[in-house]
Amino acid sequence: MKNQVERSLDFIPHSRPTLGEEEARAVAAVIESGNIAEGEVVQRFERAFAEKLGVKHAVATSSGTAALHLVLLAMGIGPDDEVIIPSYVCTALLNAVLYVRGRPILAEIDPVTYNIDPDDVQKRITTRTKAIIVPHMFGLAADLDKLLKLDVPIIEDCAQAVGGTYRKRLLGTFADAAIFSFYATKMMATGEGGMVTSSSIELIERIRDLKTYDEKEADKVRYNYKMTDIQAAIGEVQLGRLDDFVDQRKRIADQYVNSLKSLNIKLPEENSEHIHYRFVVGLKTDCNSLIQGLTREGIGCARPVFLPIHRHLKMTGYPVTDNVWKSSLSLPIYPSLQPNEVEQIITKFINVLKCERNRQ
Ligand SMILES: *Cc1c(COP(=O)(O)O)cnc(C)c1O
Repeated sequence: MKNQVERSLDFIPHSRPTLGEEEARAVAAVIESGNIAEGEVVQRFERAFAEKLGVKHAVATSSGTAALHLVLLAMGIGPDDEVIIPSYVCTALLNAVLYVRGRPILAEIDPVTYNIDPDDVQKRITTRTKAIIVPHMFGLAADLDKLLKLDVPIIEDCAQAVGGTYRKRLLGTFADAAIFSFYATKMMATGEGGMVTSSSIELIERIRDLKTYDEKEADKVRYNYKMTDIQAAIGEVQLGRLDDFVDQRKRIADQYVNSLKSLNIKLPEENSEHIHYRFVVGLKTDCNSLIQGLTREGIGCARPVFLPIHRHLKMTGYPVTDNVWKSSLSLPIYPSLQPNEVEQIITKFINVLKCERNRQ
């Protein structure tokens, strides 16, 4: 493995998991135990996760997408039921709704916070609306006060916000159910992996039943959406480091803000509860050539959402989302990013931005 200094001379990737000796030892212990599939380490991780959040129940899954699919199934959402999701999000949400043959109804976002716009959601509610999936985008809580008043079941999507809070209370504790992802690039990582939390034991029992098929009567379709003890062992260690991860991200975000605030670009909403899963900056123009320029300079950056869902579906009528998508770029931010690397990114960002502005 390369050390930090050698690494910093190379390309600085857009994302990087923060894993170390402790995770390696935890995995070795599982391998030595001989039980590598779902077993008692998963159970322990579920309990620790529920305790950390202060929720009654947690069920581990093979991914965040699987967690979403299971929640929709357990809520009884099926063919032609409408589920509202923002357009400005990855296609995992679209896929989960389509898995149950539901109808995805796309909503606009708030251009300042990038979160689903409660007023736009309200206009799209019909008698067929069965749920709203609410992602807390880039580590900042959605407007839960307004969303919870809409009187439609809400699924909090905390894939980008584990460890984040809203009015000082941890995300994932507000709605009927919440899902989490532990994919390699997320706030805490187990490679692949996910979690469902809820205070409803009925919902949780349905999910436990649906996620595993073996040694049961085939009286309904079931899935294989289990987490392994290998993943859970990594998860336990990462969970213990989560508060520190959040602090590190806030430190890096402060460093970015201090250096970039005079540049006349849009920076993340100033909010002490933002945990900065992504550091998103907004320009006045399309940021495509800036992304290319920075990449050539050895800085991994990207549009924070690959493509809005309405564009995948060849739909129009989402001007706020279109504007945000075109003009937004995400800079590297993760706990293992060193202050000197952040300095490098800032210097190169300012240079490339100047070149861009001169060309225009
Ligand atoms: C990553 C992500 C998911 C999906 O999680 P996977 O573990 O990759 O399946 C769902 N929602 C949001 C907002 C995400 O960022």
